Amino acid sequence: MHKKLFIPGPVEVRPDVLAKMSEPMIGHRSKDASALQRRISDNMRKLFYTESEILLSTSSGSGLMEGAIRSCTAKKAAVFSVGAFGNRWYDMAKFNNVPADLYEVEWGTATTAESIDKVLSTGEYDLITVTHNETSTGIMNPVEEIAEVMKKYPEVVYCMDTVSSAGGTKIEVDKLGVDICITSTQKAIGLPPGMAICTFSEKALERAKKVPFRGLYLDLLSLYEYIQKKDYQYPSTPSLSHMFALDYQLDRIVNEEGLENRFERHKKMAEVVRAWAREHFEIFPDERYLSNTLTNIKNTRNIDVAALNKQLGERGFQISNGYGKLKDKTFRIAHMADCQMKDIEELLSAIDEILGF
Ligand SMILES: *Cc1c(COP(=O)(O)O)cnc(C)c1O
Repeated sequence: MHKKLFIPGPVEVRPDVLAKMSEPMIGHRSKDASALQRRISDNMRKLFYTESEILLSTSSGSGLMEGAIRSCTAKKAAVFSVGAFGNRWYDMAKFNNVPADLYEVEWGTATTAESIDKVLSTGEYDLITVTHNETSTGIMNPVEEIAEVMKKYPEVVYCMDTVSSAGGTKIEVDKLGVDICITSTQKAIGLPPGMAICTFSEKALERAKKVPFRGLYLDLLSLYEYIQKKDYQYPSTPSLSHMFALDYQLDRIVNEEGLENRFERHKKMAEVVRAWAREHFEIFPDERYLSNTLTNIKNTRNIDVAALNKQLGERGFQISNGYGKLKDKTFRIAHMADCQMKDIEELLSAIDEILGF
């Protein structure tokens, strides 16, 4: 039996979106390929509220994260981490020989604007990374406050990981002053895994020109220059199947459901899951900074999460255990992409039944 996924990626994909993945191939150097990629970029600009160029990469989101920190750090990167995915950005810098410092806070707490101000005021850094929505802890960072502080540092390239939030909550890239905003297909956008998408600002572009060794496949400058020259075609063969599905899905998101409606649906689902969590358990992260796309629940009853998931599996559902060091201490319910309130209600009543609530 197929288990409906309530894990924070990959997510449940609508059958009509999935069907687009099996459309016949087209030549990746054709006019149709150019038009397809241009349409995707235009709709991604709407989803991200940006005028910046959009870059697509046939890799998961981690590919563009690595590409961003490597391509755009000339001096030194400050990595602000609130969990596992923030830390990953530091490792990417380290293993690419990119100078970087890690500023990690206790899991469950947020990156504050003050902490960024303090670090950047040293003048040591020319790039920062911030996780918008930390999937390991359930924190959504206060990016509006951070944006205010970033106005003081126009020379710093601002990279943001929105892998588990883009498409599920409003992220106004230009208003927030983000230069490289990165996401993947398999989370709130609601596609199978396999592609990554980012915004790429003028500032990021000018910076990359000053960085001599940017790698090759994930060199954001060469991706940018290539698509300008070749009418949105990419240097290597992209996953056209993902592009067919992404094109279709973005049209649905932007023109059919509507961005505001989609974000509102996510907020409402989050509120229901949080209320359930507070009633029966506790919410793990700082309540001031809760994610709209997933809820991380403190396992205050010391339930056997694996056993719960096994029983849920028999009923056709799957949730997620805690991430890494939080494995049995928390469990996570994702409410993102095309998940509906009805799905959430079904899931929660199945859990209620199993746990005897
Ligand atoms: C899933 C996730 C990633 C990793 O993305 P991939 O597409 O799996 O490479 C990075 N950051 C966050 C916040 C995530 O949730």
